[in-house]
Amino acid sequence: PTASKAQATDVLTVGTNAEFPPFEYIGNDGQPDGFDMAVIKAIGKEEGFEVKISNMEFKSLVASLSTGSLDAVIAGMTVTEDRQKSVDFSDSYYTATQCIIVKKDSDVTKLADLNGKKIGVQEGTTGDLLCTPGEDNEVITDSKTDVQRFKKGTDAVVALNNGGVDAVVIDQNPAENFVSKNPDTLKLMQDDTSTEQYAIAVQKGDTETLNKINDGLKKIKENGTFDKLVAQYIGG
Ligand code: GLN
Repeated sequence: PTASKAQATDVLTVGTNAEFPPFEYIGNDGQPDGFDMAVIKAIGKEEGFEVKISNMEFKSLVASLSTGSLDAVIAGMTVTEDRQKSVDFSDSYYTATQCIIVKKDSDVTKLADLNGKKIGVQEGTTGDLLCTPGEDNEVITDSKTDVQRFKKGTDAVVALNNGGVDAVVIDQNPAENFVSKNPDTLKLMQDDTSTEQYAIAVQKGDTETLNKINDGLKKIKENGTFDKLVAQYIGG
């Protein structure tokens, strides 16, 4: 049993949702690629573990971690109080904001303008939370606001182009990516009232994995690997 346990700890099963460029997407070889994939592999190289990527829906990631089918999650995932109830987060590795994608002729300039409109979001994300009317939402207060939840950001963007939704709310880097693929029809509005921190999640109480990840993250920041990957995948 000791031998098999040692073997098992050498491979970390890491969940992601490869629909969030440039952090994760399906590469030309059909495998998940992107900044996050490169970061977790670089951490593994420092800490002596191999990474096995498990690609699934974004909204299933936290639950899969809690039930133990994943050892970690890297998915452009924002640290939120709600998620902290079920998982533990590493040190933050990226600061992000939410953006609004609209058609070129739209007069929407800020989140509050989306009250009462049809908003496309990626299900279970912070963008979803930001747009869904509720007790804690001081910006989107109109209960008639129709939040349409998609499995993929790209599907929300298709709906926007088809007129199915009036706007898409999603993190800035994927938003830029999606708009750059539709330069004639779409534009980006920034309403960065709040910033978010991306971090790697592990099972609650798994300090062993957490410490390795934090240690590896620190090392790749110190040795320049992290900045190289930022330049390679995200740019300046
Ligand atoms: N940062 C957002 C969140 O954590 C979106 C992440 C994603 O869609 N991959 O909810």
